[in-house]
Amino acid sequence: MTWSLISILTFLIAWFAPLILGLNLAKRKRVNRNWMWFSVHPMLSWVGYLIVARKQLKVNCPECYSEIHPQARLCPYCSSKLPENSYPSDSPKDGLHTTLALLTGPLALTLFITSFFINIADSIKDTWAYGEAWNRIENSQEAQGFLGGEMEASSFVNGSFQSNRTSINFEVEGAKGSGKVIIGAHRELKTWSMDTLWILDNTSGDTLDLSDKK
Ligand SMILES: [Zn+2]
Repeated sequence: MTWSLISILTFLIAWFAPLILGLNLAKRKRVNRNWMWFSVHPMLSWVGYLIVARKQLKVNCPECYSEIHPQARLCPYCSSKLPENSYPSDSPKDGLHTTLALLTGPLALTLFITSFFINIADSIKDTWAYGEAWNRIENSQEAQGFLGGEMEASSFVNGSFQSNRTSINFEVEGAKGSGKVIIGAHRELKTWSMDTLWILDNTSGDTLDLSDKK
């Protein structure tokens, strides 16, 4: 499965799972279902479900049928005495629903955001500029020795790319130190040019320039 599919799926789970579970729970507990309007916002969908899970179950007075607190001893409406515990035996498990609310929402959103960024990083790594940059780095003795041995890129890649312009930067680690690779490329018709390909040494501040010769 690709990361874009995973991010779409987790996004939908984060949005609709709390809504469906919350509406169902609100109905069973006779809690105001308006709390589920939080679900209008995909990032806040789980909040409504969490509130409903934390709300007190409502029960009816056996005498006057008014909605009352399940632990009330006296009905506030008709003053009749109530049995000691009027919790129905099949009352929803609030602890379980609280856990579910805290798992489905925030966890799915975290996964969505993570896979979204991995997705962008993967797309950046597919660009001409990224591939060509590594090609030059790997074929340059100077670049290989610049940070004291084989360079390894960090998994985080920053940047932006359009059909005719790419700018990327990312951290690299060498045997002797760390640095940063800065890439800027543009395309004219079908030909890409590497306007900028710099490796910066974080410690010494030295720069190695592998850009196209002007
Ligand atoms: Zn009553």
